[in-house]
Amino acid sequence: MSDYPAQRGQAVAATKRRDKVTETNPQTLEERKALAAELGQIRNEDLYAGSPMYYYCRVCGLESDRLPEDWWKTRPKKICGACAEEGLE
Ligand SMILES: [Zn+2]
Repeated sequence: MSDYPAQRGQAVAATKRRDKVTETNPQTLEERKALAAELGQIRNEDLYAGSPMYYYCRVCGLESDRLPEDWWKTRPKKICGACAEEGLE
């Protein structure tokens, strides 16, 4: 049998773990980069159909946006709130 379901389960668990952490993004860019490296990024293709799409900050790598699967109606943010506040791009 394929390990497909296990892989999806891990991806879903990872999104739940991320939710706790990214509620309070670290203040400094270095801390955000370190956290981003620790968490890794969600592979949208590993999630269940209908799952939101995850987008990542191009400066620090943390989650910048999460949109419904019909994301094409909206443009995802390219940088996270913390980096935007600091004027980084
Ligand atoms: Zn950022």
